Amino acid sequence: MAFNVDEKEREILEFWEKDKTFEKSLKKTEKGKKYVFYDGPPFASGLPHYGHILASVIKDAIPRFWTMNGRYVRRVWGWDCHGLPIETIAEKDLGINSKDEIERKGVSEFNKFCRSKVLTYAAEWEKTVKRIARWVDFKNSYKTMDNSYIESVWWAFKKLYEKGFIYEGERILMYCPRCSTPLSKSEIAMDNSYRNVKDITVTVKFKLKGKDAYALAWTTTPWTLPSNLALSVNPNIEYAYIKDKSDGTVYLLARELIGNFFRSEDEYEIIETLSGRKLEGLEYEPIFPYFSDKNAFKFLLADFVTAEEGTGIVHTAPAFGEDDFEVCKKYNLPMVQPVDEKGRFTEEVKDFSGEFVHEANEKIVDFLKSKGLVVKVRQVSHEYPFCYRCETKLIYKALPAWFVNIQKIKKRLLELNKKINWYPSFLKEGRFKKNIELAPDWNISRNRYWAAAIPIWKSEDGEILVIGSINELRSYAKNLGEEIDLHKDFLDKVILEKDGKKFKRVPEVLDCWFESGSMPFAQYHYPFENKKEFEESFPAQYVAEYIGQTRAWFYYMLVLSAILFDEIPFENVQTTGTILADDGRKMSKSFGNFPDPSDVIKKYGVDALRFYLLGSPVMNAENFRFSEKGLIEIYRKVILLAYNVNNFYSEYKNLGEEGEKNVLDRWILSRANTLTKNIGDFMRSYDTIRSCTEIWKFIDDLSTWYVRNSRERFNNGDGAAKATLRQVLELFSKVSAPIIPYVSEVIFQNVSGKESVHLQDWPNADDSLIDKELEKKMSSVREIVSLALRERDDKKIGIRWPLPKILVKSNLELKEEFIEIIKSEVNVKEVIFEKSEELSVELDTVLSPELEAEGFARELARKVQAARKKMGLVKSDKITLLLKGDVLEKIKGFEEFILKRVGATNLLKDVAEEGFEYNESGKIKSCTFEIFIRKNPQA
Ligand SMILES: [Zn+2]
Repeated sequence: MAFNVDEKEREILEFWEKDKTFEKSLKKTEKGKKYVFYDGPPFASGLPHYGHILASVIKDAIPRFWTMNGRYVRRVWGWDCHGLPIETIAEKDLGINSKDEIERKGVSEFNKFCRSKVLTYAAEWEKTVKRIARWVDFKNSYKTMDNSYIESVWWAFKKLYEKGFIYEGERILMYCPRCSTPLSKSEIAMDNSYRNVKDITVTVKFKLKGKDAYALAWTTTPWTLPSNLALSVNPNIEYAYIKDKSDGTVYLLARELIGNFFRSEDEYEIIETLSGRKLEGLEYEPIFPYFSDKNAFKFLLADFVTAEEGTGIVHTAPAFGEDDFEVCKKYNLPMVQPVDEKGRFTEEVKDFSGEFVHEANEKIVDFLKSKGLVVKVRQVSHEYPFCYRCETKLIYKALPAWFVNIQKIKKRLLELNKKINWYPSFLKEGRFKKNIELAPDWNISRNRYWAAAIPIWKSEDGEILVIGSINELRSYAKNLGEEIDLHKDFLDKVILEKDGKKFKRVPEVLDCWFESGSMPFAQYHYPFENKKEFEESFPAQYVAEYIGQTRAWFYYMLVLSAILFDEIPFENVQTTGTILADDGRKMSKSFGNFPDPSDVIKKYGVDALRFYLLGSPVMNAENFRFSEKGLIEIYRKVILLAYNVNNFYSEYKNLGEEGEKNVLDRWILSRANTLTKNIGDFMRSYDTIRSCTEIWKFIDDLSTWYVRNSRERFNNGDGAAKATLRQVLELFSKVSAPIIPYVSEVIFQNVSGKESVHLQDWPNADDSLIDKELEKKMSSVREIVSLALRERDDKKIGIRWPLPKILVKSNLELKEEFIEIIKSEVNVKEVIFEKSEELSVELDTVLSPELEAEGFARELARKVQAARKKMGLVKSDKITLLLKGDVLEKIKGFEEFILKRVGATNLLKDVAEEGFEYNESGKIKSCTFEIFIRKNPQA
């Protein structure tokens, strides 16, 4: 029956569940030193994909390793319940398209629906996570939507407020007009939100006041032109007034950029040049009549202006760009924002009111054209950010918002980062450090619904009450019932009272990263409960997530830990890259460019998938193309080989163990102990790639060298070989257990007869068994053999035809025991050495009649062996063999050899063919043969 890896692994899975092996492993280590692991809670808005599987595989392998090293590794699942992903699902299910509709329906209704949807995929997740052999406690999982969790978040919020880290401000933020909420920088950078799009761009004329001249400004977002309040120029760039010779119009623009508008110098004439500095305060006439202010419609100086594209004069609208906002603030310009929260023009812009800004571009251009204010219109493709949730084009928007002051803690964040070990290490001084250095203040408010409510209540005169616990809430709230819920829908109705003044909650909810950044203490409901548990588990020894979290979870955890505890949140952090499809693109259902994870697991098993991922460059935080071919290679060359060696051992399980170990035994024991030592070192430094390389090399040595060369000894009942294989397999199963937990379990139980491998202590290598010189020599022997086999291949001489001799040119001195291996592997009668610095081999291919006879005998024996297999015979079955044909002449002197090899009791030549169950005829070289086989009656 064909081997079915899926079935085999499921058997083991069942064994673990019945045996409660995970629970036992925790029980066994509960007195041990803690090895604390924080699990970044996944958001289960869909089924787990390869990225999730990768995360789970690492989060299993490393804790398994430390558990075997006697450490207590608590592993409890968490669910990230809040935020836009679930709101998006809820909107879809409820057929809702906007915030208006949510509010009409009722926030309470909406949140109730979100809550009911949060764990939709929980069962599927649990199934997948279990199947990939990740050991984690689902029963006691924490949820970020629980009151206990949110209360800890509130505690943290209030601490930050008291320490002066939280402030209310106005910020220009990337904003999704469909979701009606701002997005943080990390949300825009995380999932490659930028896409190449074609947009209409326009160069507009601004008439200078009191002059017969026009300033030129260029924009890729014509819809922001009705909000134009200023033109910005760089004080250090040279500008020029030029006259267009075709019609006499005078333009102002950066001198360097004149070439963007005129093909040759003959078409214009420079009237005057001047530095940008001299333009400050110059007035121009507004192109739209919607706004007026005494400070508006003047030239401002700003360093962000460059002479790289456009005209070197930047159209400036304070609400729609960060730089615009800053420079307008500096010059005391008012904030104008004629765009509502859905991205539509308000009444203020009367010609376009109600239009969605991204759709108004062409109309605005036409409008300006009709007034003769457009110089040039062009389609350009450029990178533009999209909402990663709903794929709507984002806009900039000025919004009131709550912030954590990052600038105040930045220096400390950089210092603390020095205490963290990063894997791979370049992230520490690279991406993570840079991320801290460039971090803006953290906008923690969201204008949404399903998230922890911001615990700020305001009075009409602007006094602020920040609430840090449920008890505190009760102390200010009148008539609060037993049942409370720390979400917006419940709290918006809760009016607080202090000194006769009434306080109403601000409408915003918290950024979900504030919640997940609170995970170290909020999972314990600290400081309201479990004080000791939290203190003993902080900081964690280990976290592992994909590279996007350097800007998100890793970063926010550090920020909160630094402000609250002046401490790092984790000591070791492992960061993985992104898994791409085989074609180098993002894995996408619509491209159909990747195999379904569950199919892959069914075909090749979980061990192969785990090994494939843990051994890949994705563990170095690099992008990695997932290829089924690569996975198949692992399945065949690592996992199947391991099972095959184990099956081979099973056949000889009952042999005794007496006897002298030979060179192969000593060699493979040395290799196994080297393996043990290396994997221990690599796993301790979180290097799973090299651990996998070691395992691969070892299983190849064991299977294709040790076992293959020892078959005859096993057949002859050699106890030393059996004892060696048992010891080696036991070591192998233990050190590979964290990476390939299924096959290592199968092997361990088979060779030891004991309970689970995952309850064993990590083995120590026996240094006295490590013989580097021996390992080196054996590897040279393998090289000699492979060279010789390649030569046989080139000359088309099958391995069963014995050759007289091989000449080995090398600087090696090999003992007889190695020479015997070469003889048997290459099938030669003699090995001759010649001194040479470079290794090469030469085969003597002239066959004597005797060698030829042996070759025929071997070929014939192989055919009989194959026939036995077809007949379904087992090793102990004896046969009677009848041979006919020219070949009889050729095998003279090798009849006994054949009998012994094929388990035949007698070789008949001239008898009738009746009574034989099997017959086959053909040719070997040019000799005819005919084989008849009959199974002997049981003795
Ligand atoms: Zn959106």
